[in-house]
Amino acid sequence: MLKEFYADLHIHIGRTEKGRAVKITGSKNMTLKNILETATSRKGLDLVGIIDCHSPEVIEELEQLIGEGKAKELSKGGVRYDKTTLIPGAEIEIYDENCHGPIHILAYFPSIEKMRAFSMWMSTLQKNIHLSSQRIYCDGRTLQRKVYELGGLFIPAHVFTPFKSLYGKGVKKSLNEVFDANLIDAIELGLSSDTYMVERMSELAPYTFVTNSDAHSLGKLAREYQKIRLADASFEELKKALHQKDGRSIVTNYGLNPLLGKYHESVCADCGERITEEGHTRCPFCGKNHLIKGVSKRIAELSSAPLAEVERPPYIHQVPLDFIPGIGPKTISKLLDNFGTEMNILHEASINELAAVIPEKLANMIHLARTGKLGITVGGGGVYGKIDVDGT
Ligand SMILES: [Zn+2]
Ligand SMILES: [Zn+2]
Repeated sequence: MLKEFYADLHIHIGRTEKGRAVKITGSKNMTLKNILETATSRKGLDLVGIIDCHSPEVIEELEQLIGEGKAKELSKGGVRYDKTTLIPGAEIEIYDENCHGPIHILAYFPSIEKMRAFSMWMSTLQKNIHLSSQRIYCDGRTLQRKVYELGGLFIPAHVFTPFKSLYGKGVKKSLNEVFDANLIDAIELGLSSDTYMVERMSELAPYTFVTNSDAHSLGKLAREYQKIRLADASFEELKKALHQKDGRSIVTNYGLNPLLGKYHESVCADCGERITEEGHTRCPFCGKNHLIKGVSKRIAELSSAPLAEVERPPYIHQVPLDFIPGIGPKTISKLLDNFGTEMNILHEASINELAAVIPEKLANMIHLARTGKLGITVGGGGVYGKIDVDGT
């Protein structure tokens, strides 16, 4: 019997319990325990990928949770904590001689033992194994083979962001410049793109798309996520879904409207003006040459093929609860008291049930937000777009 599960597979750890920094820009309360607790009791996520589990202190903490009986390893892979399954992983930066810029990738493993083996291997190729998203001194294909050897999953991260991504600067035209196309399990879209924008990129046709939060703070968990059809929340089932085996698959991707992403449009890094016309190498407003190429422009450069005949799950442009104007912490906690988790608020509660708890106007706003119908102002150059209250 297959059921539906909610998954966010790209979550960072800010600090270990002992206070050691992992993701330096991550918030201090972003510890393993706090993430698991938030995912299970507040967000209602069934599956979380924590991609800083290569850090030796994090591995110790995981083992401690298991030792105390608060978590247990699953026979089909993953670690169960309360109602949520953790998939341990790592985010890694590749910048080998075939790359034109740094590329972030995500690797996930079925067990703590495999995670530790990977961490040990990586520690001989990195300067600091305790930190997140560190550069590894080997080439992309070597890394892929190691992940494959350990029974892991390999997913290029936020592939269109202008910095540190596969298509941002990493390759000129094709992932084959750096990676073995057969050893990629899925593609992570990232905050400034969606399924529809990339449908003319023929080399992506074989891959499943994932949409994740890349959360650096607890509130941002499930900023983007997906609904997946699985028999149970485990590593093996997730792997099947990414390869669309035995009826397992991603049912819906939920993400920000790409127009809200902070790199959607090209912007001048010096004066901040938006550059919408084609063909500029310098800013037409201030004359400097620090243009940050927007994701939409980069995708247009890479898209030549006619529409690929790929059936993809719908991508819902959903606005996160705390982005909605008028929905403050008080309203959210009232909603949580009544509906349990954010997933219940977004997916289970009817508009009437919402309106029984909060003012009707706000209930309507939530309904517009979860169906992708709130108006927005476009983002670019590192500034997020904004929700436009009466622009619906
Ligand atoms: Zn990254
Ligand atoms: Zn990340």
